[in-house]
Amino acid sequence: MSDSNQAGQEKTTPKKKSKYDFTDDNLPLEINLSWCKACNICIAMCPQQIFEPDRDGRPVQTRPADCTQCTICWVHCPDFCIISTVK
Ligand code: SF4
Ligand code: SF4
Repeated sequence: MSDSNQAGQEKTTPKKKSKYDFTDDNLPLEINLSWCKACNICIAMCPQQIFEPDRDGRPVQTRPADCTQCTICWVHCPDFCIISTVK
């Protein structure tokens, strides 16, 4: 087998996504909605306004790409519903 077919072919290494890239389906947070009492604290305090309330007042991540992992929402949630997905 000859290597000549591979001569001149560009090696394309897929660009590694940042772990802080929350585009596509990569959500920044896991929210345990069964513990959530819809107090609105996370929605009100997020400086990036990434949440919208659902019809029961619980947070939905509607602008996940804007999350900066600032910690405010999970530090202030009184019921410990929110954790980061960033490892
Ligand atoms: S970590 Fe900060 S920016 Fe991200 S959702 Fe929570 S409060 Fe908003
Ligand atoms: S701060 Fe916690 S309990 Fe309150 S709405 Fe957000 S997730 Fe639910």
